[in-house]
Amino acid sequence: MSGDAEMREVHEHMAAAMEGVAPLPGERLPVAECVGLVAAERLVSRVDLPGFDNSAMDGYAVQAADLVRAGAGRGRGVRLQVIGHLAAGDAPTEAVRPGTAIQIMTGAPLPPGADAVVPVEDTYGGAKLVTITKTVPAGRHIRRQGEDLAAGSVVVSPGDLLTARRIGLVAAAGHGEVLVHPRPRVAVVSTGAELVAPGADLAPGQIYDSNSHLLAAAVTAVGGLTAYRGSIGDDPELVRAELARLVTQVDVIITSGGVSMGVHDVIKDVLRDSGTVEFVQVAMQPGKPQGLGVLLDGERRVPFFGLPGNPVSAAVSFTIFVRPVLRRMLGLEQPETTTVSAELTAGMRSPAGKVQFARARARMLPNDRLGAEPLAGQGSHFVADLAEANLLLIIPPDTTELSAGDVVHAILLEDDDGGVTAR
Ligand code: AMP
Ligand code: MG
Repeated sequence: MSGDAEMREVHEHMAAAMEGVAPLPGERLPVAECVGLVAAERLVSRVDLPGFDNSAMDGYAVQAADLVRAGAGRGRGVRLQVIGHLAAGDAPTEAVRPGTAIQIMTGAPLPPGADAVVPVEDTYGGAKLVTITKTVPAGRHIRRQGEDLAAGSVVVSPGDLLTARRIGLVAAAGHGEVLVHPRPRVAVVSTGAELVAPGADLAPGQIYDSNSHLLAAAVTAVGGLTAYRGSIGDDPELVRAELARLVTQVDVIITSGGVSMGVHDVIKDVLRDSGTVEFVQVAMQPGKPQGLGVLLDGERRVPFFGLPGNPVSAAVSFTIFVRPVLRRMLGLEQPETTTVSAELTAGMRSPAGKVQFARARARMLPNDRLGAEPLAGQGSHFVADLAEANLLLIIPPDTTELSAGDVVHAILLEDDDGGVTAR
């Protein structure tokens, strides 16, 4: 059961992970909670934008022809009687007639009879009488009803990403809620008897559980919701009970550890005979041992990822296999990752027959090309170098030796946005 002949290729495992995964059914959420989510419905504006003719300035609503008739601007002012005051939110009660003006603030509805606004800067006077020193053409400083968008126009279509700016439009169009593909609820579970929560003291042989924190943060960064994060040891009965409980509460389960060839590989022990999860070797480094499948909650099939325990393996496996699945559940478009080409700044070796996902840092080279500086620690336990990395080099299976200057493809390890705080 060791033969490399049985190894599955990376793209095959990616396809297996994606199989049967669809955007989560639409849920109606308050518009303020929708940033980073994808709309599952078409929304049209409930109102014209602007909703009514209104003033673009603080000033006086007037009849433009009245000012011209009275000779404003030719070295002399025209005095008008101020017959009212309109602030944003007021409804007009009086009409502007020749010889009169209504004091008006930005956003207040234009009163009947008026066809222009004189900015306060071009006037003196006050609440009862105002002197206008400049003429204005008809229509000046008026925002016209519907000039931005007509009522009934589409503001969101299914598949649209709700950016902060689009959320502004949805709200302006009068919608307090949007039907969206909701954030997948994800359980992130560490296994291993050696693990202790960061912050506590370590006994000999113990280490801090970093995977559940890294994976929960990665879930949040993609836009998922970490509904559970915990470290559950490696007692098979406890692990079995925890998984049975979690499957009823979440959309995806991610475990780390316990999927390789050790004698305490609890995830493998518990799920080997499930019939719905398979344990395979993927032709990649890091991340060779993988558990993948579904856990059943009645009829509901909950995607399950049994990631390897080495922190770098868990992180890389998340990027390559889990992240695309969460993105599809969110209704986000492919490609799931942004790839770039970069020139190696140093030579490196890579194992034959496996894709190596090597950690590197991007930097500008003296020739103004993008360089990739491979990090020193390529073993799957080098968490410090993992934290420094912002590129994941994809070294193909048939490449074993690379020199400085060779061009490689790399996944850009971006900071996704649109996440929420894990609970
Ligand atoms: P495993 O896959 O369970 O055999 O674990 C492989 C290696 O990763 C071992 O050195 C574990 O101690 C380590 N490891 C497993 N889980 C975690 C975790 N949650 N945080 C940090 N290291 C871990
Ligand atoms: Mg373990």
